[in-house]
Amino acid sequence: MHICPVCNQAGISSWVKFRSSTFMPAICEKCGARVYINSKINGLFAVATNIGLLFSAWIAFTQWSWLPLIIFVVVWIVLELMIVKFAPLVPKK
Ligand SMILES: [Zn+2]
Repeated sequence: MHICPVCNQAGISSWVKFRSSTFMPAICEKCGARVYINSKINGLFAVATNIGLLFSAWIAFTQWSWLPLIIFVVVWIVLELMIVKFAPLVPKK
């Protein structure tokens, strides 16, 4: 569970935090506050993912190999897990 920035209790599950966004905030189980992962971090991550995907697709194509795409997926999952673990939650106003 993750700490809610409003009530400082562990009211946010990892799955809910993972799915949270500006449009679909996570709801704290303790206080009902609507919180989401800092949108700058999510935005940067989205840009990095697109560049990474294009880059690995290009290498996969030129090398005629699935390996770069498999590496991309593994790195993507690890980054996604890091974001869920470390990215700060902000309350939605
Ligand atoms: Zn809370």
